[in-house]
Amino acid sequence: MTNKKFWSKRIVSAVPYVPGEQPRDRKFIKLNTNECPYPPSPKALEAIRAAAGEGLRLYPDPECLELRRAIARREGLTPEQVFCGNGSDEVLAFAFQAFFDPDREVVFPRITYSFYPVYTDYFGLRRREVPMNPDFSDPVEALCGRSGGVVLANPNAPTGIAVGLDVVEKLLNANPDVVVVVDEAYVDFGAQSSVGLIDRYPNLLVIQTTSKSRALAGLRVGWAMGNEDLIAGLRCVRDSINSYTVDRLAQTGAAAAVEDEGYFQEITGKIQATRTRTAERLTQLGFRVLPSGANFVFASFPGIPGKALLDGLRERGILVRWWDKPEIADWLRISIGTDGDMEALCAALETLVKQE
Ligand code: PMP
Repeated sequence: MTNKKFWSKRIVSAVPYVPGEQPRDRKFIKLNTNECPYPPSPKALEAIRAAAGEGLRLYPDPECLELRRAIARREGLTPEQVFCGNGSDEVLAFAFQAFFDPDREVVFPRITYSFYPVYTDYFGLRRREVPMNPDFSDPVEALCGRSGGVVLANPNAPTGIAVGLDVVEKLLNANPDVVVVVDEAYVDFGAQSSVGLIDRYPNLLVIQTTSKSRALAGLRVGWAMGNEDLIAGLRCVRDSINSYTVDRLAQTGAAAAVEDEGYFQEITGKIQATRTRTAERLTQLGFRVLPSGANFVFASFPGIPGKALLDGLRERGILVRWWDKPEIADWLRISIGTDGDMEALCAALETLVKQE
């Protein structure tokens, strides 16, 4: 038991986020943290190797200008509309601190990225978690109006369900005086990005990452895109904590990855094709599979608890993600791996559901 005698009151009561397992002892087929099954762009790896030299003696550019320029060029923005951080988790954490106040509730769907409630609680904010619609789609009406901020993952996690730009615009118009954060960690697998709305909505902050669609979860780079005044707010938070959150290798590698559009299209296309085949196969086996715009599927089998399937898969060397939450205790979130990974997953699930 940890002795917390010297801990601040804030961290004594904190309930931290628990990331998916990163096994060290044994080789698993890892379908539990939505990493990309393909390697990073060869151009990104080359850029990282080239940057791993004498220059590391020096601090990185605190403003990440070259990386911001690369993102801005791709998205049709100015670099002043882009902020880079150490993974989108850091950018999200900065956004919660920059735009939300303790006296007004931050609202988000009840089934969504489980870091959001961790941030609200840790930063002393109030939160309202809105129940999902019965089909697990986002409770859009309940996210409209009278809040201190809105957070929407699009596509949502762990459901994978995406909303259209009409829904995002509805949220922006219904919450004109507060910031609407759209977390697009998974947008590149078939959903529509809200980036094109930035010039019309000063309250929109869009957050993306290199961790999924650019196969660089190990590099830790994410970014926010929005009105210049919002970006300045994020800089204010960062520079009150740590000016150099994105290291030299990460800035260079992420910029090269963002510029390698051909490779990005190739791997995201392959993952979407594998997702379609996996969803079809699971459906044939009798699973219920939610429509996914992400690099994972959310699936359940009638009559078998999710935990039983999770444990059965683990015994067979396959890791997936499960949450001990009543509404989704029967569901598994399964990252899309290679075709071979998914073949192994479907074969293992077939055995498990036939055994029961
Ligand atoms: N948003 C969502 C919805 C996620 O699932 C994740 C990955 N766990 C992140 C943000 C954070 O990704 P990263 O910090 O690797 O950019």
